[in-house]
Amino acid sequence: MKYKCKKCKTEIEINKYTLVFRNMKIQNKDAFCCKQEMECLTENEGIPTIIRNEYTKEDRIIQHKAKQKEKRLSGKK
Ligand SMILES: [Zn+2]
Repeated sequence: MKYKCKKCKTEIEINKYTLVFRNMKIQNKDAFCCKQEMECLTENEGIPTIIRNEYTKEDRIIQHKAKQKEKRLSGKK
């Protein structure tokens, strides 16, 4: 995966992933530069499917909550 620092524009290629789950996001432990997370230039590659499933699950909960809110609002009319 290719990573680019948003600050100093350094580009690096990381072939070993030390993924950490932080702030509801997966981050590569080695992809840090200028004390911040580097931007991933290679998208949808090397990301475990299980993480993507988790996002879908979360989306479903958000959709469900939105629907409930909608129901409540329409019921007040
Ligand atoms: Zn940097």
